[in-house]
Parts: sequence; structure tokens; C-alpha cells
Amino acid sequence: MRYWVIVKILLGVWSVILCEVTLFASQVQSAKGKSELNDAKKEDEIDYAINFTEKERRWIKEHNGTIRLAPDPKFAPYEFFDNESIYRGMGADYIHLLEEKIGIKFDIVELESWTAVIEGAKRREVDVFGLAGVTSQRLEYMDFVFPHIHAKGVIVSRKEISKELSMEDLTEMNVCVVKNYFWHERIVLDYPEINLTPVENIIEGLRKVSFGMADAMVISIATSSYHISQEGYSNLKIAGDTPYSIPLAIAVRNDWPELVSIINKGFAKITQTEKKAIFEKWVFHREIEFYQTEKFWNAMMVIIITSVVLFFLILIFNYRLKKSVNHKTNELKKEKDKLKQSNDDLLIALDKAAESDRLTKAFLANISHEVRTPMNSILGFVEILEMNGVEEENRGIYAGHILKSGQQLLAILDNIINISKIESGFIKPRTEEVDARVILKETFELFHLVAKTAKLDFILNLPEEDVNMMILSDEVLLHQVLNNLVSNAIKYTPKGKIVLGCKRNDDMLKFFVRDSGVGIPEEYKTIIFEPFKQVDRNHSVPVGGAGLGLAIASRLVVAMGGTMWVESEYTKGSTFFFTCPVHAFV
Ligand code: ADP
Repeated sequence: MRYWVIVKILLGVWSVILCEVTLFASQVQSAKGKSELNDAKKEDEIDYAINFTEKERRWIKEHNGTIRLAPDPKFAPYEFFDNESIYRGMGADYIHLLEEKIGIKFDIVELESWTAVIEGAKRREVDVFGLAGVTSQRLEYMDFVFPHIHAKGVIVSRKEISKELSMEDLTEMNVCVVKNYFWHERIVLDYPEINLTPVENIIEGLRKVSFGMADAMVISIATSSYHISQEGYSNLKIAGDTPYSIPLAIAVRNDWPELVSIINKGFAKITQTEKKAIFEKWVFHREIEFYQTEKFWNAMMVIIITSVVLFFLILIFNYRLKKSVNHKTNELKKEKDKLKQSNDDLLIALDKAAESDRLTKAFLANISHEVRTPMNSILGFVEILEMNGVEEENRGIYAGHILKSGQQLLAILDNIINISKIESGFIKPRTEEVDARVILKETFELFHLVAKTAKLDFILNLPEEDVNMMILSDEVLLHQVLNNLVSNAIKYTPKGKIVLGCKRNDDMLKFFVRDSGVGIPEEYKTIIFEPFKQVDRNHSVPVGGAGLGLAIASRLVVAMGGTMWVESEYTKGSTFFFTCPVHAFV
């Protein structure tokens, strides 16, 4: 979707550029012609004040806009009508300059041929020639103003004629001339033996020569170059010179002497710079540099447009490529991160597996050790009992030992099963409403006599009655943890007192069992919570268990959402703490 928006924007930009380039190119083309004349005007400080006589002024007033000027329609580059019937060429530029300078507007009449123009002039239907060769015939009905252009006559023929042609060579040839042109009139007079084919216009004549219907044509050098390049007659060339160079000038019907003098006065005001600009515009125009031609600009336009389109296409392609590379890179990066994560997880799992393996091995070694002790005792006493001669009195003692070891074995096996259940997540604490105050009182009652027998002070330390002791927990497991801690306290306190209590913190209860017993050395404060770990006391204190009690209790506390720790001073006593979250029962 976003690509389309970008493509639309680019197309918009492209069409704007296209319009601008087209406009620019056409402006360049049209401005090229105009600017030369305008520049020439600016360069000269032109004095338009012409001293017309009163008679001339009156004449202008009377005839302005009605003076019929009929140009040769196909005498490029001297004068011609373009595709839009606009009067163009050197003659046209001179006439327009004159119009400005003498303040006259000519009525430009487009006739079909030069012959028609001549005929029109003879019938006084045409008043002015824009640019015509000065000939004796024309002087019969036209007056010429001061001639301002000289057109040199040349012979045009096909390229296959290799030799340079002269007028004499033309006597054996079929030669085209434009009807009533200066060349026509002169050749008829000077070379009557030449076989002439009069044509209506230059193009017709050149076509005849090009197609082999005529051998040569006599026209002016500027005209031939203009038409050969313009019409693309690639098989034609300028094959030779003529002795003729015709003066071209504006001609006025010879019964209008006022206009001749008016034009002459106006013509005198045309500067050399203006004349040069007109000449260069129409004559050197054909020899301009390649980059000044219309073809060049058209080609440039195509190149520019194609380049712009290509540029944008490449831009779009690059953008898409970059996006897809980024996308792929991100995907690869994510994939790499995932792989790294998996790798890390695997390493951790491997470590855990190794650790678990190590622990399992240690655990099994401990189990076998712990089980073996009471088992050996049982087996030993059973063997003794099987012997003959054991006194009846001793039999009872031995049976008592067997019973005690059996109970010890059972306790160990119970504990092992318990810890295995906790480790493998089989024990799921229930979450029921429990009154911790009641639990503590029950525990106190349970151990009250045992403590008394051991000559220990046993104190229950409870918060004020108004303190809420309701929690969401597992009653059975709580009992199990408290029993373990109190029985340990009694076991490891030779004399003194034991305090069982609880405190309420914000969102938890903190249970504690404090004794004034043997205490725990610093280095054992953490490891006593691991299975089978016991403090090495060099038999100074009786070893009563297998070192599983605290491991089970601490794991049960964690399963209920709390933590267990010990604060102790060796030989002075210990306090075991554990917390229990209150949950929503506040
Ligand atoms: P045991 O069955 O050996 O008592 P426990 O896991 O319950 O196993 O305790 C681990 C060790 O921690 C005990 O061997 C003992 O040395 C030490 N211990 C536990 N409770 C106390 C206490 N209240 N005072 C001093 N030492 C204690």
C-alpha cells in the first residue's frame, strides 16, 4: 500500500518535471529567434523620429492597413509562409522592422505561387513585394527601394554528377528554374540554348532533380542550402557556381512613388546591428551548432525524461531492496537471538542436569549411608537373637534396639519420600483460611510436656488479640514446619528456654522458634538447609536425625510462598524464622 503512495507521488513529480521540460524546450526554441532581434534593438539607441514630408504623412494616413504585400510563399529562407500561414524569413523580419519604424501596417496577402504574385502585381492587386530580385521586366510595373540583400546563384544537381558544373554544362541538361524568378528571366536572355523546365516553386524543382526528372536547378545559395537540409534531399548537392548574384529588395508598384520614399526613409533607420541579426538568424541558422538544433533539444528531452524516470525507478527499486534487506536482516537477527537464547537455555539446562546428576548421586550416597546404619543395627541384633544362649533379659533389650532402629528407618524413609515429593513438585500446598494463632497454640500444647520433661522453659509469644492472624495457607504443612523447628530446638538445647512465636508484618506473618541451645557455627548457617547436612560437633551433641528435617521444612515454606533463615550465635542459641504471606485475608 505504501509503495503505491510513493509511486503516485513520483508520477506526480515526474509529470510536473515533464511539463516544465517541455515548456522550457519550446520556450528555448521560440525565444531563440525573438531574442536575437530584441537584443539587437536594445543594443542600438534607435531614433524613430523620421522627417516625413506633409504629403508623405497624409499618404500614410490614407493608405495605412490597406497596402497589400504579397510575399513569395515558398522562397525560404528569404521569405515564405510557415505551416501556420505566418509570414516568415529575412524579408518578413525587414518588413516587421519597417512597420515599427514608419508606423505602417502592411496587409500581408498569401498567394499560391510567385507567378500568382507577379500576375497580381501586374494587375495592381499586389502593391508591394517583400523581397524580390531586381529585374528589367519587373521595373516595368514596380519600383525597387535600395537593395539590401544579395543572393548568389548556384547550380544544384544530384551527387552522382561528380564534376563541377558551369552554365555552359547546362546546355546539355534539363534545368529547373522557378517560373518568373530572376534566374528564369536571366537564363532565357543569356543562355537561350539551355533546356529549361519552369516549376511553380523551389521544392517542386528540387524534387524533380532529386528524383531524376531533371538534371539540375539554378537557385540562390541560401535557398538551396535551406531546402536541401530542411527537406532532407540527401542525394543533392551544390554542383557549381553561376555568374549571377541578384540584388534583392522591397519593391513597390511604380505608381506609388510616395511609398518608395517612405520605405527608403524607414529603411535608412534600420541599423547595421539589426541587419546583421536578421542575416545571422536566417543564413547561419542552417549552420548552427548541433546543440542549438530542434532535434538536439528533442533528443535531450527524451534523454532527460528517460533519465528522470529511470532515476525514480532505481530509487524505488533501491528503496524496496533496502527495505527487504533490512527486513531480512532483522529476521536473521531475531533468529540469531532466538538461537542464542536456546543455546543459553541449553547450557543452563546442561548445567542443571549436571548439578542435578551430582546432587542425585550425593543424595543416593547419603540415603544408602543413612539407611545402612539402622539396617545394620537391626540385622546385627536379629543375628544375636538367633544365637543360642542369649539371656531372656537381654533378648528384651535387643528387641527394643531392633524396634528403635526400625522406627528410625521408617522415619528416614518417610523423610526421603517427603523430600522427593517436594523436589518433584508433587506436594501442592492447599490454600485455605487458616488461623495462625490456633496453629501456634496447638504446636505449643503438643510440645509442652516434652519440653517440661527435658527441663526446659517453653514460652508461647503471640501478638495482641486484636492483631489479625488469619492467613491463606496449608494448615497441615504449617504444622509440619513448626513441629520440626520446635523438636530441633528441644533436641539442641541442653538447658534454658525455648520461645515459640509470631509477628505480623504488613502482608505477611513472621514465625520464629528461639532457643538458648548449642547454636550453629557461621559456616553451617546456610548448608544446614541442604539434605543430609548436619553440623559436625565431634559427638559433643547427640545426633538424632538424618539431616533431612530442615531441608524438608525450608522447602515446604518456599512452596507456601515464604522463606526460611536462621540467626544464631554458636554456643549461645539460635532463632529460626520463616514467613508466610497473608494474601487477601487482611
Ligand atoms: P537433624 O535430623 O540432624 O536434626 P535437621 O535438618 O533438622 O537434621 O538439622 C540439620 C542440622 O542443623 C542438625 O544436625 C543440627 O546440627 C543443626 N540444628 C538444627 N536445629 C538446631 C538448633 N535449634 N540448634 C542448633 N543446631 C540446630
